[in-house]
Amino acid sequence: MNNFIEKIPFKKVVLIYIIIAILVGISLILFIGNAFQSKLTFIYDYHRIHETLETGNHNLENIKEEIKNMSDNSEDVVDVLILDKENKIVYSSKNSEFANEEKFTLNKADNMTNDYFVNPNNDTAIFRLTTNKELIINTVLSNFDTEIQKESEDQIFYESDFDSKQVYLLSYIANHDTGEKIYFINEIHPVENGKMYIKVTLAIMMFFFMIYWVLLALYIYQNALKSKLNPYLWGGITLITNIAGVIIYIIYKQNQKTCFKCGASQDKSHIYCTYCGIKLNETCHTCGSVLNRNDKYCAKCGEKQKNEE
Ligand SMILES: [Zn+2]
Ligand SMILES: [Zn+2]
Repeated sequence: MNNFIEKIPFKKVVLIYIIIAILVGISLILFIGNAFQSKLTFIYDYHRIHETLETGNHNLENIKEEIKNMSDNSEDVVDVLILDKENKIVYSSKNSEFANEEKFTLNKADNMTNDYFVNPNNDTAIFRLTTNKELIINTVLSNFDTEIQKESEDQIFYESDFDSKQVYLLSYIANHDTGEKIYFINEIHPVENGKMYIKVTLAIMMFFFMIYWVLLALYIYQNALKSKLNPYLWGGITLITNIAGVIIYIIYKQNQKTCFKCGASQDKSHIYCTYCGIKLNETCHTCGSVLNRNDKYCAKCGEKQKNEE
């Protein structure tokens, strides 16, 4: 076992590992990017429209065009309605069923929590008010689709026709000066197998992280073995604490001397290597104590030293 670990060429292994990790990483990004492409486009468009609207100084016609593009590019967008201060519909990006009436009003849904609203002209639709971020997260990751469905079903189960109810996500921006409102109405269409893709991606990333973790412990094990230190101790510490163990190991080794012949880690005060017997340090010719490399006088007895160089 030790023989085998000692022979692992870590420089090559790490290089190959990094190349494989980068290639797998790029493939995963491309794959996920492709699977979630329309969702990512939606985030980008929606975010940009929101930013523009929030600054207040925008040209409504330009905004309409951007809203139209966003709606056309995303199947999740059911409609984007622009209302005046009387809730009259002045613009609809997709001319959905909600744009059929002259006005679009929302009332708090009976018996439901604060987040739910209904439109008096459409009794099959329930709107769940979301924040900006919630709308994005719900639309893109559809994390809460089942949760929202269940939450709303729990609250309307006593109604005879609750199966016919459709829950929409709604976020809005209101202009307090003009009374104008913009409603973003979304439906949730989860990416097919999207959750599985994300799980597999996380599992692969986890796998690579674990390999890195074990490789690092193996490397320290090998290094300790070569330095005639206890490989189980140092490999074990690294396996448990990872980078912290490596730092402790490096600090420990910096306070030691490495034998230039056999590689053993030796106490700095050693005159001879305890493994191969080679002379590691110069000594004072009078009292025999260890000299440091550039000492001109002995630290112990003060005798002047003749430096060969
Ligand atoms: Zn030695
Ligand atoms: Zn001396």
